[in-house]
Amino acid sequence: MADVRRIALLGATGSIGRQAIEVIDAHPELELVAAASGSQQINGLAPLTQTGGDLTELLERAEPDLVLNAVVGFAGLAPTMWALEHGVTLALANKESLVAAGELALAARERGGGGLIPVDSEHSALFQCAQLGEPESLVLTASGGPFRGRGRDELADATPEQALAHPTWSMGPKITIDSATLANKGLEIVEAHFLFGLGYDRIEVVIHPRSIVHGLVRFRDGASIAHLGYPDMRVPISYALTYPERAATPVPPLELRTLEFHEPDTDTFRMLALGREAGERGGTYPCAYNAANEVAVQAFLERRIGFLDIAALVEDVLAQVDGSPARDLDELVEADRRARSLVGVTR
Ligand code: NAD
Ligand code: MG
Repeated sequence: MADVRRIALLGATGSIGRQAIEVIDAHPELELVAAASGSQQINGLAPLTQTGGDLTELLERAEPDLVLNAVVGFAGLAPTMWALEHGVTLALANKESLVAAGELALAARERGGGGLIPVDSEHSALFQCAQLGEPESLVLTASGGPFRGRGRDELADATPEQALAHPTWSMGPKITIDSATLANKGLEIVEAHFLFGLGYDRIEVVIHPRSIVHGLVRFRDGASIAHLGYPDMRVPISYALTYPERAATPVPPLELRTLEFHEPDTDTFRMLALGREAGERGGTYPCAYNAANEVAVQAFLERRIGFLDIAALVEDVLAQVDGSPARDLDELVEADRRARSLVGVTR
């Protein structure tokens, strides 16, 4: 990479944000020009910083070459749309915005004409595999989370502490709960649909406890290409920030051991099936799925509901919304608001 790449990092204090700073610091050709956080002060972290507020104002001022959106949740919508609309390369960790906005995001990208590079490890893996040809179908791997192998009756009393103890990845609290319910994989099915333009019948999920294989692409000639590596987000972050180069990271070379794969248990982990269903129904169903999940996860973390209530509440909301497509961002924001208001928990 000859030129310096000017990066705006949103969600700088989070799990992805902190690892991104490590990657940026290690590469003189990457320059952090702007950084934002939700509530923690970050003065001095970058020439331009912002805490809370409208993130697009910061982006307007910073004029970055690349936006790394590592905000958590639907709050990441505005910067995702800003980058896509302006043709500024978007390194996307904030899967919720793409899941919720779907077609609106793709239309903005079409108008803007910029790059969209996934940071989510599975999608980064698939994106890399897809450089070799047109994918016929995709496989997303899931660790299965801390409750892999358990049945419903064993999960009724699961606590936030137990759900937060992820076996292979160290991440922010929201996505860690999503990994325990498999909502994360539900979101990722929809994310893959929009990133790779494949129908849901061509996107498969397999449980792979050690998180070594991150994704696999099948091609029409019968060949399949998988992406392997230790579970370390610095790899997909580095790939997205330095693409199309492949920069060095401190992650050790892979040693091969036995790899195990099996089918997910969608009866116990309802959020996986609900995510796929929401995606298949289309319109604002994925937006409602995401919104209801965000509210339910927060309630679970605050011990106001049980672990299994997360899926029950989301299922309830999906049965109530009409799911009609959003014609613009205002309608999308309204669909998100409505789904949140329908989650049957007291605040
Ligand atoms: P986190 O909770 O650790 O960090 C979230 C960041 O977003 C923080 O900096 C917080 O200040 C900021 N933020 C929250 N609300 C905001 C708002 N309204 N305005 C501006 N900033 C706000 O989360 P994380 O684990 O780093 O995840 C970030 C995103 O990346 C999520 O969408 C997650 O699904 C995705 N992701 C994370 C990982 C991971 O390993 N952590 C892996 C794949 C994808
Ligand atoms: Mg992922």
